[in-house]
Amino acid sequence: MTGDLLSLPLPELMERARAVRDQHHGTRVTYSPKVFVPLTMLCRDKCGYCTFAQPPARLEHPYLSADRVLAIARSGGRAGCHEALFTLGERPEERYPAARAWLDEHGHTSTVEYLAAMARLVLDETGLLPHANAGALLSDELALLRSVSPSQGMMIESLNPDLECHRGSPDKTPERRLATLEAAGELAIPFTTGILVGIGETRADRVAALEAIAASHRRWGHVQEVIVQNFLPKPGTGMHAAPPCPPADFLDAIALARLLLPADVHLQAPPNLSDDFGVLLDAGIDDWGGVSPVTADHVNPERPWPALERLRAVTEDKGFTLAPRLTIYPEYATDPDRWVDPGLRFAVMDRSDAEGLGRDDPGAVFVQRIRPAAPEQVDDGVEVLHIGARSTAWYSGADAAPPPLVPGHPAAGGAVNEVLAGVLLGQEVGLDEIVTLFGARGREVAAVADVADELRRQTIGDVVTYVRNRNINYTNVCTFKCRFCGFSKGPLSLNLRGTPYLLTLDDIAERVVEAAAMGATEVCLQGGIHPDFDGDYYLDVTRAVTTAVPGMHVHGFTALEVTEGARRLGEPLRDYLIRLQDAGLRTLPGTAAEILDDEIRELLCPDKISTDEWLDAHRTAHSVGLRSNITIMFGAVERPVHWARHLVRTRELQKETGGFTEFVPLPFVHMAAPIYLQHKARRGPTFREALLMHAVGRIAYHGLIPNIQVSWVKMGAPGVHQVLQAGANDLGGTLVNENISRAAGANHGQGMDEDGFRSLVEPLGRPLEQRTTLYGRVAVA
Ligand code: SF4
Repeated sequence: MTGDLLSLPLPELMERARAVRDQHHGTRVTYSPKVFVPLTMLCRDKCGYCTFAQPPARLEHPYLSADRVLAIARSGGRAGCHEALFTLGERPEERYPAARAWLDEHGHTSTVEYLAAMARLVLDETGLLPHANAGALLSDELALLRSVSPSQGMMIESLNPDLECHRGSPDKTPERRLATLEAAGELAIPFTTGILVGIGETRADRVAALEAIAASHRRWGHVQEVIVQNFLPKPGTGMHAAPPCPPADFLDAIALARLLLPADVHLQAPPNLSDDFGVLLDAGIDDWGGVSPVTADHVNPERPWPALERLRAVTEDKGFTLAPRLTIYPEYATDPDRWVDPGLRFAVMDRSDAEGLGRDDPGAVFVQRIRPAAPEQVDDGVEVLHIGARSTAWYSGADAAPPPLVPGHPAAGGAVNEVLAGVLLGQEVGLDEIVTLFGARGREVAAVADVADELRRQTIGDVVTYVRNRNINYTNVCTFKCRFCGFSKGPLSLNLRGTPYLLTLDDIAERVVEAAAMGATEVCLQGGIHPDFDGDYYLDVTRAVTTAVPGMHVHGFTALEVTEGARRLGEPLRDYLIRLQDAGLRTLPGTAAEILDDEIRELLCPDKISTDEWLDAHRTAHSVGLRSNITIMFGAVERPVHWARHLVRTRELQKETGGFTEFVPLPFVHMAAPIYLQHKARRGPTFREALLMHAVGRIAYHGLIPNIQVSWVKMGAPGVHQVLQAGANDLGGTLVNENISRAAGANHGQGMDEDGFRSLVEPLGRPLEQRTTLYGRVAVA
């Protein structure tokens, strides 16, 4: 097999490499936004091509101080980096007395131990994920670094033991390099390695090195990426007069790597070492490695991300999308039990999106530090306040502006566009196709939004609707322990701050009268499951509303509440729902759905109704003539496949009953949610994910559910503006007293008036109309 490959002409070799890359990695090309931390430029090795290593006399200090390390990491964090790449020479203390003395003076036994301390500091203070690149290490050193660095790296470089450039470099022997690679595998360390091309090795040497890496990966599964790097001579080095690596040899080595390595191993070539770096994509790479906005900023202060923008343009011109990744690749980040030290799992999760890639909203993602809000603020629905450095990247419920994703120039080609072409031909999207759409990046997002917008136009026209309503959360005491819920209070809940309350029926009636006076046509009733409630409570509440204001639409009681109410009365759910309907209940909110997948419900809300129970409650409600909607709370712990299952399961029920009126995506608001505070969830969806949830919902439910609602409470006005161009047609309610999202940390959300809605809709040239709960029109006086 290898022999056949080696005889292929370069164009054919590259074509085969591209085919493997396309099949396994699609159109996605990744990069890591990182900041470089050169911990020490001293090194005991003397490699002939190296400009990094310096003698002590040329350095102010042998090592970067902790303050300096932190300053670099913070500047990277502010510029939106996810990774702190620690680069350093190998065991300098064994060559230079100055290094030994510095370590002794600062209380560290070795360079590796100092590296571990600095990685921990960066992690704790900034949340940037360290990547330790410390050369050939022993097993105990690798193990130490595994607890502070989610991935590690060491270039194999070459397995030729006789290279002139490695004379005088005790750490560059093939045995030491291979032993390190093996030990990393044994320790389950997501590992980056690679080869150098053009340092005097032959093509056969390169093949031998790649085959050794492939064999190690087959044993342990730990090689997350292989870097193929071309040699360029540099002044002041031993090889300053050597010829640079010929481009053809470089492309040949990349293509061979793609074909000799297992296809799941990512392949990287540095873009900054080739003038025409787009051609590297033609040889089969799927990763560009690190891009440092901080370094670029020094070069071009007026354009903070010039390198990134060029990289994006070149990548997109070749028909790919560019996605930021973490230092640990998604395959490893999403299997943390095997690959990530328990002490690092939240740090990885906190920067991840639902696919395990880096969060892609521009801006800083810092470790969240909060304190409880003052009592008067708690009563206002706000539970916690930020302290310390604040993240500037968008998250649901925050004030930060989202990145502009739509309108945009849709991309052509790739799996996302194949799915969209089928949609435009009238085909229904299945589970795998829905997952593919959720993976849209860059210009693919605009393509998904465009199709969703077109389906919206065909289905519902240009009108944007809203309902005048009031939320009445009658109690915040709850016997359930949903791990995301920042609203429920009381001895049994996970969130013990704030004051438990239970409104009386008179309180409720008074609020309904106030709502009617404000023009509301609907009251939305939901709350905790109070231990004292039996099913009669919900009947009493319904009667209290309809008695106070006859004709007020009662939109109330989740699948959990009605299931629990019927259970506590020992009454069949159908009979109970008929009694509620007779009392005046008209529609059920789709909340309590969270993610309709029991694997995820086990993590989010293990004591709550199951997926089937939620579906059964709505099936039964529809069968007695009640209507309801579908919600999804997303961005906490689940992956796109779970979103897809949720959409497919609810779509099947809609085909059966036709009883759902709308789909309402509810992005997880993380800030004060117990599951986030316990370090077991992500910080909500990214804006791209939130926008796609509406757009993909429009596509998946096409022909079955006409209305897609965007929550202004969670998305904020600028977010709503974009989502209205991505398939949404409804703004939900005016929602006086929306406390549930605010309890979880949302900054928006104590009521929106018609003028507020108009300011969102009119710039789009679309009419705003007030609707009833069931999407009839309300005559405006
Ligand atoms: S989400 Fe609802 S059921 Fe769950 S703890 Fe909160 S109030 Fe209770």
